[in-house]
Amino acid sequence: MASPASLEVHDLCKKCQTIDLEEIFSRRYPAQVWEEHILDLGPVQALAKGCALCRFFATMANSKANTMDCELLLTSTKSFYFDYMVKGELGDFKELDDTILLFVKEKKKWSAPRRFQVKEDESIPFSSVQPTRTAPHIGLRIICPEKFDRNFVKDSISYCSTNHISACQPHIIDAPDFFRLIDCESRQVIVAQPGCEYLALSYVWGTKTRTSIGRLGDLDNCPKVIIDSMDVTLNLSFRYLWIDRYCIDQLDDEDKQHQIRQMDLIYANAVATIIAAAGDDPEYGLPGVNGTLRKHQPQIHVCGHLLASTLPHPSRSVSDSKWTTRGWTYQEGILSKRRIVFTDDQVIFECNSMHTAESQALPLDVLHTIDKRRFRKEVRHGAFRWKTPDLNIMHFVAEFSKKELTHPADALNAMQGIFQMFLKAKTPIYHIEGVPLVPHQLLAFDPEKSFIQGLSWYHKNPGERRPEFPSWSWTGWTGQLANSVMLNPPPDWFSSYGISIRLESEYALFPEKNGWQNILSRPANKRVHFLYIKGQTLKCTLVRMAAEVNMAALSELTWWDPTDYALKFEMEKNTVFYVRPRLDLDGSQIEGKPLECIWLGDEAATTLDRFPRTLLVETYKAELGWMKRVGCTYKYSVYCMQDGKRVYLGGEGCLAMLKNKLQLRRICLG
Ligand SMILES: [Zn+2]
Ligand SMILES: [Zn+2]
Repeated sequence: MASPASLEVHDLCKKCQTIDLEEIFSRRYPAQVWEEHILDLGPVQALAKGCALCRFFATMANSKANTMDCELLLTSTKSFYFDYMVKGELGDFKELDDTILLFVKEKKKWSAPRRFQVKEDESIPFSSVQPTRTAPHIGLRIICPEKFDRNFVKDSISYCSTNHISACQPHIIDAPDFFRLIDCESRQVIVAQPGCEYLALSYVWGTKTRTSIGRLGDLDNCPKVIIDSMDVTLNLSFRYLWIDRYCIDQLDDEDKQHQIRQMDLIYANAVATIIAAAGDDPEYGLPGVNGTLRKHQPQIHVCGHLLASTLPHPSRSVSDSKWTTRGWTYQEGILSKRRIVFTDDQVIFECNSMHTAESQALPLDVLHTIDKRRFRKEVRHGAFRWKTPDLNIMHFVAEFSKKELTHPADALNAMQGIFQMFLKAKTPIYHIEGVPLVPHQLLAFDPEKSFIQGLSWYHKNPGERRPEFPSWSWTGWTGQLANSVMLNPPPDWFSSYGISIRLESEYALFPEKNGWQNILSRPANKRVHFLYIKGQTLKCTLVRMAAEVNMAALSELTWWDPTDYALKFEMEKNTVFYVRPRLDLDGSQIEGKPLECIWLGDEAATTLDRFPRTLLVETYKAELGWMKRVGCTYKYSVYCMQDGKRVYLGGEGCLAMLKNKLQLRRICLG
C-alpha cells in the first residue's frame, strides 16, 4: 500500500502548527506519568471540518464527545501498559525506553493532573511509528487490512512454547481419548492420532440453517469462517484443525455427550485456538483472510512523523464481538491455552502467560519475569482477564451469566469444561449443580460448610426461572450474577444454629455426614434435584418500602430507592425490621406472599446491625412440602421501626430480637 504524501507545517491550520511533534516524541519519562495537556481542540464536530491533522484528531476522539470540547493529551506507554496499583516487579523500568502516546479526550472542568485509565476511557491513543529505534520500547506497527501477519502469530506461538514451560503447554498425559480432526490438506475428517498437533476453532454457529448441519465431516459448502480457518491452519504450518460442528457427530447423542465431557481436554491440548471474534455469522469469515478486510487503521503522515492509532484495547475489541455474547464460546476461550483472536481491527495473541497484538511491537523479554515464564504482574491484563483457575470461581460463573444460550438446558453443559478445569487445579474446587464448594484457605475442607457458603450466590439483575435446574442453583435462573463467593469466612460464621443439608439425587438420598464424599465423586450425569435443609427460619413478606415508611423518613436512606422492595419481618414489641433482598426474579411475582428466610451464616453478631446471610424461599408445591429459592439476603443492614419511628438497636439488639423469632424447620428445596 503506497503511503499518502507527508503533510508539511504549511498544510496545517494555525492551531495544529503550534504542535511540536519533534519535541513531544523526544520526551522520556522515568516511570509513571500523569496525563499532560498539550492543546485545546474544541468540539469534535468542528474538528471534523478542519485541516487534515484536525480530521485525524476527530477520528481518534471518543464518539460520544461529538459536541463537547476536547483536548489533546499526552501520556507515556509506561502509564498505559502497566498497572501501578499492583505490587511491582519491574522496578523503575530502567531497561525500558519510553514511548509517548497522544490521545484526544473530552475536556474536564478541573485542571489537576489525572492518571490515564484505559478501562474508564474510550479514547484510543495514537503514537509515532518509529521502526528505527533500537532500545527496548513498546512500539506501534501498521497493520495491513487485507492480510493478517502470519509471522506475528508464528513468532508469538514460538515464544510461548519456548518460554512458558508450565502454564501454556498441552498435557500429553491428559489427552482426550477418541476424537476426530479435519485434515486441512485433504479437507477430510479423520480420527486423531495420539500426540497429533492441531489447532481448534471457536466461532459463533449462527442461525442460518444449512442442509449439511449435523452431518459429520461434511465440509462441502461450509461457511467462510471454516474455509478461512483451514487456510490459516496451513498458513501457520499446521495440518489438523478441530471444529465442534464437523468433528462431533451431532446426530449421535452418545458421541456428543462424550465429546462435551472432554471439551476441556480438546481445547487445552490444541496448540492454539483460532477465535473468530468478528461478524455476526460464520459467513463473515476471519478478517485479514481470503478477502475479508480489517478496519482501516487511522494514520497520517505529518512533518516527518507517521502517526497511527494503537487500535482499540484488545479487551474492547473482544467485548464488542458477537463471539463474546455466546455461552458456549465463553468456555472455549477460557479452556484454550493459546488464543489467536481475529477481530475487525487486528489479530490478538493471548496465551495463559502473555498477551500481544498485531499493532504492537512489544519487547517481550523486558515485559517478562526473569525466568520468562510469564508477563510481570504490573503488565495490564489483555482481553481475557480471568483465564486460569483460582479460588474465585465466581468470577467465571458471573461472567458466564452474562452470556446468551440458545438452549436453556445447556446452562450447566456450557460450563462443564470450566468446572473440569477447576477440579484439576492445584486446589480442586468441586461443584454441585454449578454451586461451587470453595475450600477455606486456612481450615480443613468441609464440603457441607463450603456448599452452604456457595448457596449464597446472588443476582445483580434478577432473571427468570429455568425449570430444567433446581432453584437453589444459579443454573436455575437467567439474569446476571454478582461475583459473590465468600473467601475465608471466620470460623464462627456458621453459627451455632446448626444448619445441616442433605441432598437428593436421581438414585439416592445422601446420608447426612459421610455422604458428601460420595456426592462429590458421583458421575457427572447424576443430577442433584433436592436439598433437605434443617435450619433456623424466619417468616417475612416482600413489600414496597414506599408503602411502609413515609418519604421523609426514607430521605435519610439515600441508598434505598423508595420504589425498591424490602423484606418485612414482624418482631416483638411493635418492632418491624426491613431488609433489602437480593431477588432472583422480579419482585412483583412474590409481593405480599408469605416467604421464609433460611439462616445460612451469622454476620449480624460481628457487624453493627447487619442482617445475617439467608436464603429467601417461597412455597412451591404446598401439598408435597416443596419450596423454591427466590432470592437471598447479603450484606445489607436492618432498617428498624418501633411504634412507627426509626430506632437503632445495634448488632446485639437486632440479633437478640431475631433469635426470639427463629423457628427450627425442615425444608425441601427444589
Ligand atoms: Zn488542524
Ligand atoms: Zn504462553
